[in-house]
Amino acid sequence: VFLFSVRTLVEEHTVKHYSDKIQSYTNDMLTSSRSTIKQAFTPMTVDEIMVKLKFQKGIYAPGTTKDQIVSDEMSFHEQVLKKKIDEPKGMILRHKEFNDDTYKLANATLLSLVRNKELDGILHAITQIEKNWNQRYHYPMTFINEEEFTEEFKSKVAAAWSGPVYFELIPPEIWNKPSNINPAKEKKGIERLTSMGVQYAGMDSYHNMCRFNSGWFYRLEGLKKFKYYWRVEPDVDFFCRVDYDLFRFMEDNELTYGFTISLYDSPWTIETLWPTTLKFISENPQYVHPNGAFKWLTENQQNPENTKNAQGYSTCHFWSNFEIGDMDFYRGEAYSKWFDSLEDAGGFYYERWGDAPVHSVGLGLFEDKSKIWWFRDIGYHHSPYVNSPNSDKCDDKPGYFAPEDVYDQNCLPNWIKFEMTVEQLERY
Ligand code: GDP
Ligand code: MN
Repeated sequence: VFLFSVRTLVEEHTVKHYSDKIQSYTNDMLTSSRSTIKQAFTPMTVDEIMVKLKFQKGIYAPGTTKDQIVSDEMSFHEQVLKKKIDEPKGMILRHKEFNDDTYKLANATLLSLVRNKELDGILHAITQIEKNWNQRYHYPMTFINEEEFTEEFKSKVAAAWSGPVYFELIPPEIWNKPSNINPAKEKKGIERLTSMGVQYAGMDSYHNMCRFNSGWFYRLEGLKKFKYYWRVEPDVDFFCRVDYDLFRFMEDNELTYGFTISLYDSPWTIETLWPTTLKFISENPQYVHPNGAFKWLTENQQNPENTKNAQGYSTCHFWSNFEIGDMDFYRGEAYSKWFDSLEDAGGFYYERWGDAPVHSVGLGLFEDKSKIWWFRDIGYHHSPYVNSPNSDKCDDKPGYFAPEDVYDQNCLPNWIKFEMTVEQLERY
């Protein structure tokens, strides 16, 4: 009954309906949905998984034009973001007083893989996080690089950050291309990507970066002691004040991963990621979580050519230049074994598998989607996309997403409609 009702809501597909209908839900229904999610993890058979990974029921009638779909999705997006919000409701929140020396931080660090030449950009980003959040908490920040940071870099970021700062050098055997990569096959792959117009296709360091961010950063010596991370890139903006402890929020509410923006990806960068993954899960079905984000991963209506060219994967992902996550998820058996199979396949070099789709497919398949949180209250900008809440704590245009010509790249409405419960949507 609950699932049916959610689908009805999705089909009606306006937030107004969403919030009107929630009133009519009985508490019993919400309780039963919660207990469904919490029930023991009984593995599915390969056949059951494959049924879930076939996108069967869309929202739009066949023949609906792309323009119509994109316009409907964007107005939904805007309606959700224009709802006035403050802090999440019905969740455990901790607020540290500025001078409270007894406050217990989570075991966490902010994290930036960054180059010396990006010093100004990273100062731009961390200054805003300081002002809008960290000046209250003084969490540590870890800067990572495959080259030594300069003295200037170290002293300037240390001066801009109120918590401890750490600098971590990536060993070459972690950063560099692994020896199983076949140079002839790699060259052919890069030529193909270049002909498809894929950005950074021929840039070795970009491939290294994507692989490192996908499956290696959390294994660095200096990161082993931490459980939670918050990834920060140069030149991004954080334009809303957040008073509660975001890391304790993850911990206290037993969340695995938090994001702000969800997008489609270029299918040519990940042509074989999905088939490689299907092979892995057909051999290891026990890792697939029955409450995975299957529809978001396989949707095929807004950009059907993406799903086709990525061989069944919608290419929808959490945009990983912002992410707050629990590294123990990546360190766990499911993600680790799956990541090993990705390394064997070599797609970080034969194609240009990005850490965003890799994290997202891993989370969407191997984690309970109720542990994945859309941080609707974090105002975030990485060009050209924005998560822009309607809150007194922000200083930007509520609901703004991006220039119109990239509206079709937005996958957040799919996440909200397919993978969030009404209860979760009502938490802001
Ligand atoms: P884009 O957002 O996909 O265009 O990629 P970016 O250029 O923003 O790179 C993603 C992140 O990786 C940023 O934090 C960069 O600073 C970092 N990054 C990219 N390439 C390198 C590299 O070769 N070395 C280091 N240390 N960091 C890199
Ligand atoms: Mn970037």
